[in-house]
Amino acid sequence: MATEHPHAWAADAIRRLREHDRRTLPTPLRPLPLPSAFARGDIRVYVKDESAHPTGSMKHRLVRAMFAQAIADGAIQRDTPVIAATGGAVAVAGARLANLLGLDFTAVVPAKTPSEVLARIEREGGRWQPGERPPAAVQEEARELAARLGGHFLDHFGDAERAVAGCGEPTIADEIFGQLSDEPYPIPEWIVTGIGTGATSATVGRHLRRHGHSTRLAAVDPENSAYFPAWASGCADYATGMPSRIPGIGRPRTEPGFLPAVIDLVVPVPDAASIAALRWLNSAAGPAGGLAAGPATGTALWGTLHLVARMREAGTRGGVVLVMGDTADPYRTTHLDPGWVRSQGLDPAPYEADLERFARTGEWRTHRA
Ligand SMILES: *Cc1c(COP(=O)(O)O)cnc(C)c1O
Repeated sequence: MATEHPHAWAADAIRRLREHDRRTLPTPLRPLPLPSAFARGDIRVYVKDESAHPTGSMKHRLVRAMFAQAIADGAIQRDTPVIAATGGAVAVAGARLANLLGLDFTAVVPAKTPSEVLARIEREGGRWQPGERPPAAVQEEARELAARLGGHFLDHFGDAERAVAGCGEPTIADEIFGQLSDEPYPIPEWIVTGIGTGATSATVGRHLRRHGHSTRLAAVDPENSAYFPAWASGCADYATGMPSRIPGIGRPRTEPGFLPAVIDLVVPVPDAASIAALRWLNSAAGPAGGLAAGPATGTALWGTLHLVARMREAGTRGGVVLVMGDTADPYRTTHLDPGWVRSQGLDPAPYEADLERFARTGEWRTHRA
């Protein structure tokens, strides 16, 4: 390094993160064809494909922003070990980015973390250790480990939203509006996403206000999650204490990054409906002719069809963008496996019939209605 000024390592690390981005950003925005029975061409649905990040999940974007923020804050320096608390996509992205920056990375993982994820953390150059306390306590354990090692705790529930807001890079919302600028409806009617840390919905909601767009933000929420009841009741610290079955979205309690005031509508989606929509997306007979999306995208599609049907009823034309957070690959033996779905007591059949009717007739009427 020619410039050994006091911030030389940080400057070089930020440069490496930017270079890393250049290869994959913006992530693609693709049309999702509606069934021909429905489509009159005046409603268009798009998928923002966040599975195109190098580690296959939208968490890559959040973790990248957290690294940039912690480096700018001086919390991560040359030789600072980085610790995360999860057996999910944040750990895989954390391992990849720590490796890029030459930093040690350890994930404290909950006891039931699939061996496949552990193998991926290792392949990305990271380490993992099982949490010794109940799953809800892995965050505390990781924080303590970071303190013992003089390391940095990558707290995605606490910090992702703030990091994305402050990192000064183009956000997912900047990308979406840039990509829609040449489309028939450059300003969509709706953007649809799930809520995990809350960072993505907060980023989109802020963008809409800052830019004065008429687009509304809809969040989809799975069973057992605290977000829908918190949004509907106005009780910001709502807790269900129950885990979500849809990976990446839905939480037992509201997280600090959740900004209910910028969300126009929260749509609660039954888990069996998420599975039905997931199967439809992944099947060759589905709207995209086989889109290898993960379960949370099924949830988002269910919410999207609800909105599209409302638009059609009201005679509204325009676009709807749904965020695809990850790919099907990690879920072949779980959510995409009929035996696993049955073992969870879920019956997607009635919801599959709803989708089938929609595809055939263009009529959206859920069997409960
Ligand atoms: C994390 C996640 C989300 C939600 O994003 P947040 O910004 O954390 O709210 C949606 N889909 C998938 C697949 C995710 O992993």
